[in-house]
Formats: sequence, structure tokens, C-alpha cells
Amino acid sequence: MTTIMEGKAVAAHLSEKIKKALSESDKHGISPKVAFVRVGERSDSISYERAAIKRFEKFSIETEQYHFPDDVSARSFLSKFREINEDYSINGILLLQPLPEHIDMKRVEELMNPIKDIDGMTPFNLGQVVTDDENRLEPCTPAGVMEMLEFYDIPLKGKDVVVVGASEVVGKPLSLLFMNRDATVTTCNAYTNDLAGKCRQADIIVSAAGVINLIGADHVKEGAVVVDVGINFNDAGKMVGDVDYDAVRDKTSYITPVPGGVGAITTTVLAYHLMMATDYQKEPVLFLER
Ligand code: NAD
Repeated sequence: MTTIMEGKAVAAHLSEKIKKALSESDKHGISPKVAFVRVGERSDSISYERAAIKRFEKFSIETEQYHFPDDVSARSFLSKFREINEDYSINGILLLQPLPEHIDMKRVEELMNPIKDIDGMTPFNLGQVVTDDENRLEPCTPAGVMEMLEFYDIPLKGKDVVVVGASEVVGKPLSLLFMNRDATVTTCNAYTNDLAGKCRQADIIVSAAGVINLIGADHVKEGAVVVDVGINFNDAGKMVGDVDYDAVRDKTSYITPVPGGVGAITTTVLAYHLMMATDYQKEPVLFLER
């Protein structure tokens, strides 16, 4: 029998932890605040920002928004970004990506204070994924995948995992998170030979390629766990993942839908990371149960 892994259930579980942390932080007179930083008017960035703000507001967490026009000079953007970064009242920063080409993303990543980096994108936080540090802010989407697998009690130790996609934001850090849990990981990319053959060996497949119907029945062994991170829009404008869901579902033991799977967890992970970030900043006052 196949279990459909619902992002909503995972988000609800994480929300309870956030509420508990908020009530503890309140006892210490601490009110976390998050800043959203966006350059330009990309519709995908705007809708992600809206969804994240809505999530934070549900927890009554204060938000501040900093919007810059597409043609803002790199110098004035970086100068304002520095101010936000150094503002003691701001505990977490979410930088909407991508930035326009004339602003060097690497520069911004290096500038951002890692303990405010709730999206886990700075070199320091990515490095902590490599070294498997306990108190780290992980990139949100990979963290959401791990939360999903943990919530559904999927064992990872000794399992064969195929991660399809090797980007810096999803595939690479996710592969490392699996390695940290003693799984054996194969990370595939657009040039991988015999993707279907590699996937067929896997106990767990996570697809984060951004290609409609990339993973079909031929890629999945009987009883495998399939997690679909992909967000694509088909010709009819409907949101779909990378996995041919109807063809694959009955072969799997666990599968995520799109929408309603991993995507439904990300903004809650962000809110959880804000609590972690605030907690670190206020040490030795520790209010988060880990
Ligand atoms: P990206 O374009 O940066 O990277 C895609 C990766 O997939 C690359 O490593 C590429 O080599 C690989 N790839 C492309 N075609 C392939 C193929 N045919 N076979 C094997 N590998 C292939 O994308 P990204 O930012 O990592 O995002 C990946 C997908 O995840 C996108 O659909 C994106 O919208 C989605 N996404 C979802 C969430 C979420 O919250 N659910 C968050 C971030 C990204």
C-alpha cells in the first residue's frame, strides 16, 4: 500500500515546535523579527515572499520588507543590505533570489551574517552541512525534505538514495544531509548516464531537476520512497513536479504529491529557522528545545 506524504501534516508538526519556542522566547522578553529583501518584481519571488509573510504572520512574528527596483546600483543595494544585516532588532533575513546580474550574489552571501541566514545559503552555513555541525541553519528545501522523511519515520541509515539534481540550493546540500545520516548517495545531473537504471537501484529517490515527467514507472523499483521537489507548470498552467505521479504512485511505499508535498513545508522551515537564529543570537538564553 502506498502512503501519500502530506506537507501539511509535517508543517503542522513543525508549527507546534515553533509555537512552543515562541512562548519560551516571550517569557524572556524576546520577539523575533524577520526581514525580507527583494530586488525587482519577479512574479515567482513575489508569490514566495507573500506565502512566507503569511506564514510568519500566522505565528504573529513581526516582518519587515525591503524592496529595491531592478536597476538599483550594486553599491547602494550592498550598503542598505549591510545596514539590515547589522540591525540588532532583525534576527533573520530572507533574500529573495535570483538577484539581477549586476549584483554579485556571492558577495551578498559572504556579507550576510550566518546567524541571520534563515535560508541557509551562506558559505558558512553550507560548510556546516559538510561538517555535520549540530546547530546549523540548513538550506530550507533540503531541510524540508529531511523533515518530511523523519515525520514519516523513513529509515535512512544504510539506504541507497538517488538525488536527481545537483544545484547548490537543493541537490548538493540534500545529498550531504543524506550522507550525514549514513545513507549511500548517488547525485545525478543533466549529464548522468542511464538515470533510470541508477534510480531503479534506489530505496529513496528525490527528484529536484525541474523537468516534467522525468521520473516514470521505469525509474522506480517496487516499494521505493519517492520525494518530488520539482515545481513545474504544464501546458495547461497546472503545477506539477518532476515525477509522473499517476504512473509511479502504485509502485511506491511512500510518495509526495505536487502541490501539497515538500513545497508546503518550506515556509514553516523558514519560521523554525528564525527561532533557531534568534536563539543563537540570544545565547546564553536558550529557549528552543532541540
Ligand atoms: P537548478 O536548475 O538550479 O538545478 C537543476 C538540477 O537538475 C541541475 O543539477 C541539473 O543538472 C539537473 N537536471 C536537469 N535536467 C536533468 C535531467 N534530465 N536529468 C537529471 N538531472 C537533471 O534547479 P533548483 O533550483 O535546484 O530547483 C530544482 C527544482 O526544484 C525546480 O523545479 C524548482 O522549481 C524546484 N524547487 C522547489 C522548491 C520547493 O520548495 N519545493 C524549492 C526550490 C526549488
